[in-house]
Amino acid sequence: MQKVYSAQMSSVTADSVLDRFRQVGALLEGHFRLTSGLHSPGYLQCALVLQHPAQAEACGAEIAEHVRGLGAQVVLSPALGGIVIGQEVGRALGIRAIFAERQDGMLMLRRGFTLASGDQVLVVEDVVTTGKSTRETIDVARAAGAQVVGAASIIDRSGGQQTLDVPYHALATVVLPTYPPESCPLCAAGQPVVKPGSRV
Ligand SMILES: [Zn+2]
Repeated sequence: MQKVYSAQMSSVTADSVLDRFRQVGALLEGHFRLTSGLHSPGYLQCALVLQHPAQAEACGAEIAEHVRGLGAQVVLSPALGGIVIGQEVGRALGIRAIFAERQDGMLMLRRGFTLASGDQVLVVEDVVTTGKSTRETIDVARAAGAQVVGAASIIDRSGGQQTLDVPYHALATVVLPTYPPESCPLCAAGQPVVKPGSRV
């Protein structure tokens, strides 16, 4: 049996986190056509875990345990994906949780959210894929004069390739390759492709 994805243990909780994903269909194995049009042997959707408040709270508490020592005073997340888990990490740490969102393509604080000079900020996301939105969120905090003490996510999809300049912790690392349809080995093997979420 071909191993279609690999999950590396980044903590003793990685297996239980991924089990939680599998139980709610948030981590599927097969042959999928992603929204991007690319094909993948796996599908990961954090929102399907986070829609269950008890699961979201548990993920937040687990992240909080790992980052408590960083001494963060504020959680900052990028909208939309980071909002729910950011709120739960903030709850577990007993600190404020705010989010940055895009306006005219630029990530920024809106809605009256503020960071004071010297605030110790923890950036929280659901999934880090390339690290790009995490870096942008870090930049938002620094532009406000805050100090970013670390970053955290439920899942690291970067294959360990993210290049953040702050301490970073993920509950689990998942490597899911993607392929253009014309060079997809699963297509070449004749395996039917499905859209994630469709019942098969
Ligand atoms: Zn394919």
